[in-house]
Amino acid sequence: MHTAPAAGFPELRLRRLRRTPALRRMVRETWLRPEQLVLPLFVRPGRGVRRPIASMPGVCQLSSDELVREATAAHAEGITAVLLFGIPPRKDPRALGAYTRQGIVQQAVRRLKKELPDLLVITDVCLCEYMSHGHCGLVTEERGGWQVDNDATLPLLARAAVSHAEAGADMLAPSDMMDGRVRAIRAALDKAGFADLPIMAYAAKFASAFYGPFREAAESAPQFGDRRAYQMDPANGDEALREVALDLAEGADLVMVKPAMAYLDIVWRVKTTFGVPTAAYAVSGEYSLIKAAAERGWIDERRVTLEALLGLHRAGADILITYAARDVARWLREG
Ligand SMILES: [Zn+2]
Repeated sequence: MHTAPAAGFPELRLRRLRRTPALRRMVRETWLRPEQLVLPLFVRPGRGVRRPIASMPGVCQLSSDELVREATAAHAEGITAVLLFGIPPRKDPRALGAYTRQGIVQQAVRRLKKELPDLLVITDVCLCEYMSHGHCGLVTEERGGWQVDNDATLPLLARAAVSHAEAGADMLAPSDMMDGRVRAIRAALDKAGFADLPIMAYAAKFASAFYGPFREAAESAPQFGDRRAYQMDPANGDEALREVALDLAEGADLVMVKPAMAYLDIVWRVKTTFGVPTAAYAVSGEYSLIKAAAERGWIDERRVTLEALLGLHRAGADILITYAARDVARWLREG
């Protein structure tokens, strides 16, 4: 790719192409488009509810009527896809709310698809928001301690996935990090008549401190322990490629790296190694860092947000999941 320049300075001056805005636009290599953006949304019970999340300024938990209102506005601004998380009215040790037909997400999907048939509705498939203990799988006692039981969790994830499909979801995004979940979900979907429904696997999901504000947003903080026995060690890049390879072998159509900003090398390696549609999730902590610094007047929110997303795209992410999606779509339109 890199050929030696035919000449050096002073014949060659790279600044020539940076001289004017028109020149810079002409040679710009990477562009952000609204179609790349996915807006995460949180749905909770009730009517007319917009409950602000203190640690994520501008983000609210929404009742389904408000969710439709929010999604309608976002869609009108150019957002083509949303990623849905549910906050159920009650939680239990088997995460019933995750796979019941009348679950909070299932109802919201039906409503969204009825009101906005063109909007791509992606659902997060996990159990943690519905578990009384807040872990992503079934918890069993083991050797005086506890563990998340991988294999016993898979059928519940598959049930949740099928229930989202039956509600009308356009894409499913399993985020639990159990081994074998993509295969279990793919098999269950195919059996239920949803062979055409794509899976976006949270393939390389790291046990990150950047998720802090999300725990408040989704009310999903574990009641004991942490998620390091199933989410990945932030130190590992080779293992991330193995995770992605496995998820693809099990039938994932798109893969995700999460978080984003501290994992650009992973995004790059995943994209260059596999060449499949790749998403990066700019998580709550990344959003809140920018918001907080901007509120103090320390950084330019718009420029920093766009630069961070451009970096993700340049690193190889085709799909950008961000809480700032609506602002970004507006800024892109303004030019
Ligand atoms: Zn989870």
